[in-house]
Amino acid sequence: MSWQPEIPAKPIECRNLVAGDWTSGSGDSIEVESPYTGRPIGTLRASTAADVDDIVTNARKASREWRHVPVKERTRPLFRFRELVLENIDDLSNGVALESGKTIGEAKAGILKGIEVAEFALSIQNLDDGGALEVSRGVSCETRREALGVAAGITPFNFPAMVPLWMYPIAVTLGNAFVHKPSEKVPLTACRMGELMTEAGYPDGVFNVAQGSRETVESLVDHAEVDVLGFVGSSTIARSIYTRATAHGKRALALGGAKNHLLVVPDADPSVTIDGVVSSFTGCAGQRCMAASLMIAVGEVDDLIDKVIERASKIELGRDMGAVIERASLDRLHAAIDRADEDGARVLLDGRSAKAPVGFEDGYWLAPSIIDHASPSFDCASRELFGPVLTIVRVDTLEEAMRLEQSSEYGNATSVFTTSGAVAAYVADNATNGMIGVNIGVPVPREPFSFGGTKSSRFGSGDITGRAGIDLWTQLKKITTKWELQPDASWMS
Ligand code: NAD
Repeated sequence: MSWQPEIPAKPIECRNLVAGDWTSGSGDSIEVESPYTGRPIGTLRASTAADVDDIVTNARKASREWRHVPVKERTRPLFRFRELVLENIDDLSNGVALESGKTIGEAKAGILKGIEVAEFALSIQNLDDGGALEVSRGVSCETRREALGVAAGITPFNFPAMVPLWMYPIAVTLGNAFVHKPSEKVPLTACRMGELMTEAGYPDGVFNVAQGSRETVESLVDHAEVDVLGFVGSSTIARSIYTRATAHGKRALALGGAKNHLLVVPDADPSVTIDGVVSSFTGCAGQRCMAASLMIAVGEVDDLIDKVIERASKIELGRDMGAVIERASLDRLHAAIDRADEDGARVLLDGRSAKAPVGFEDGYWLAPSIIDHASPSFDCASRELFGPVLTIVRVDTLEEAMRLEQSSEYGNATSVFTTSGAVAAYVADNATNGMIGVNIGVPVPREPFSFGGTKSSRFGSGDITGRAGIDLWTQLKKITTKWELQPDASWMS
């Protein structure tokens, strides 16, 4: 397999999927470029409030019938969709890599992880959910789990297939109609997935795509017929979407950015640690909300740090690691490394001077970079950089390391590399982040366990996937029934 994605001969027009038809939005034109080349690969017209109204009105119409289709029947198109995604995985991986800058291998891995969520959603039909009980003589209570109506999912650039797949297989199987608003930086995959959802046999209007950016998002959040919102993106926007949606009385879960902590202690096993640290901060060019970006070196771990640097310095751009999303990200990352240097940290590995792959010189490339001896207050140690940059803060004790973890404004992931069960247990017990790893650089919970952080990495309650995903996209109806008056009836019965 060659590492370069195929570049389309001319830019692809990315449209909206509305009630089974592909139509253009009527807002501004947005050009989509590939991080590999810096050149246009697609275009879209943003959806205005009127476009969003049309999409949501049709979705509402579809949801009225879809919610009454038995769950076993609602599940059938998802089996077909899963097969279609797997049949088309090479083509889909190419598209994901092309628009997001990932390597093709990373693109494929992300799609397969998304498919695991679809497989979880396939099992919803066998869930023994709800129940009934005679709560007093002649009176029974029953619980039913019901769809909310129209669900909207707003997703970021960094996982064009996987993050949306965290949402719609579960939401749609539970009886909602769904509107996907992909990032305007990666609209191509959303269109391909829309085509496959249609081919899988979902009724028109059950799955929809609304292209666009801020105005489109705000129109979805404000639309009276959107009942529930899932958002994944940066913390500032996650907070504002959550606040705006809940002010309208809607249910919302908004996942935000992260600054993940990776604790390395002297007894860590070098083989798992070096691989775990390097693959965590360089995978997907560091553009993962679960990427390690702050390593807390506890005590004397210089030997491990040297080996991390040695391994990271061998990473070849293009073949082993993709590009960052856009020029602005590259500039921001360069400035962050400069700033760390000015603040007094030591830049031990500087990826800014690495050569771009031949033929891709106009792309957005940054090789792995490592900043050591940062103080916890430095920007590079506390802010999300979202690139292949690892900052190292040195502390003397595990207690000090945990105080840093606890004071972070973000709450996605904390991992510890150790061979001691007691150290692992101490970290798991005292960590404030939502997802904890032991000897794992990217501790993403796998189905049926749910994905979600704490603090500024998550606004709202619950998680987005797994069993928690079922709660997000449904509500419980409680039915209390009495057919005849009992002689001993009290005011409660
Ligand atoms: P982003 O916040 O810029 O964009 C996310 C979505 O919001 C996009 O669909 C975008 O069109 C929309 N948007 C952008 N500006 C908006 C505005 N002002 N008002 C309303 N909507 C707006 O995020 P991004 O740069 O696409 O993605 C990277 C971020 O996502 C990182 O912070 C990363 O940590 C985070 N992320 C978090 C998770 C998680 O599970 N917590 C997963 C993936 C990515």
